[in-house]
Amino acid sequence: MKALVYHGPGSKAWEEVPDPVIEKPTDAIVRVETTTICGTDLHILHGDVPAVTDGRVLGHEGVGTITEVGEAVTDLAVGDRVIISCISSCGKCAYCRKGVYSHCQADEGAPGIGWIFGHLIDGTQAEYVRVSFAETSLYRIPAGLSDERAVLISDILPTGHEIGVRYGQVSPGDVVAVVGAGPVGLAAIVTAGLYGPSRIVAIDLDANRVAQARRFGATDGVVASDADWREQVLAMTDGLGVDVAIEAVGVPATWDMALSLVRPAGHLANVGVHGVPVTFPLDTAWIQNLTITTGLVNTDTTPTLIRLLAQERLDVDGFVSHRFALDDILDAYDTFGRAAETNALKVLLTAG
Ligand code: NAD
Ligand code: ZN
Repeated sequence: MKALVYHGPGSKAWEEVPDPVIEKPTDAIVRVETTTICGTDLHILHGDVPAVTDGRVLGHEGVGTITEVGEAVTDLAVGDRVIISCISSCGKCAYCRKGVYSHCQADEGAPGIGWIFGHLIDGTQAEYVRVSFAETSLYRIPAGLSDERAVLISDILPTGHEIGVRYGQVSPGDVVAVVGAGPVGLAAIVTAGLYGPSRIVAIDLDANRVAQARRFGATDGVVASDADWREQVLAMTDGLGVDVAIEAVGVPATWDMALSLVRPAGHLANVGVHGVPVTFPLDTAWIQNLTITTGLVNTDTTPTLIRLLAQERLDVDGFVSHRFALDDILDAYDTFGRAAETNALKVLLTAG
């Protein structure tokens, strides 16, 4: 089969590799029909994720059809259309039993990421993928839910919902600021709407992204390069600051921004993956009674999100900005890598 193979920092190829096979009775093989490119793939390609080594197939979002199941897989069958979760989890270990699937202690982590536990399995940017612990890592897709929507449940919708909105405890009437209006920030914006906030303020350096965020439920927008960005947000909250700030970028500047916007007794939910340390002012957090949360997507709300999407309770049309054939994945990477110019959000790849 063809797959997008990582060959060390700066190097990748769409090349012929052996077809995946069932290795364990709990495995399934899925024919990938739709996959995407994520910012994390670019981090890996830059060499920022040393746990991912030469020869690994990238990708951790996907939708497809099961072509083979291991003998222990009884809940799923050949021919089922499924979402491939970005987290594969055994469902049985101590963490899985607590619903913290991202910390599954079984010996295989998320497909194509590898960095979560240093575990390595091949990813979804391929014609076929082996999914470990299929029964707890694949989700059957309800009739009527398109691939294009379903694939958003592999990673970005649970990430924005769980680590941004739920950890931030967005509640009716809250003013919520989302710093960073990329796919993950937009996922937080669209799922925050489920909890009845009075305002959702999208903040981004890119004015296009700020404008685009309104399409997904942001009531207000602030361009982060405006000198008075903080005053603009404070003016929306009678000078108090926001109830919930969601950081969805992952750089020190946006961590500081989010922290500076939260009112006393508010919540700061950090979603961004920070490659460099940030300043953590414990004294400020203490005197302001702040609740600060962070973490890796758990995927514990995946079934809920599937139901909401199937019932059209989440308006996600517009997340996909570009579409390519899977064979043209190198062009897709080029478009995604130049997001500032191409305004790429999610770049969709579909098998012929
Ligand atoms: P992205 O790069 O597509 O979007 C980031 C946005 O932040 C862009 O719109 C950019 O213009 C904006 N931005 C950059 N610098 C800024 C600044 N100084 N001020 C304001 N805005 C700024 O990224 P994404 O795919 O949306 O992901 C966002 C973050 O979420 C990344 O750090 C990613 O690694 C992380 N993530 C976390 C988890 C998790 O489990 N916690 C899962 C997936 C992704
Ligand atoms: Zn487990």
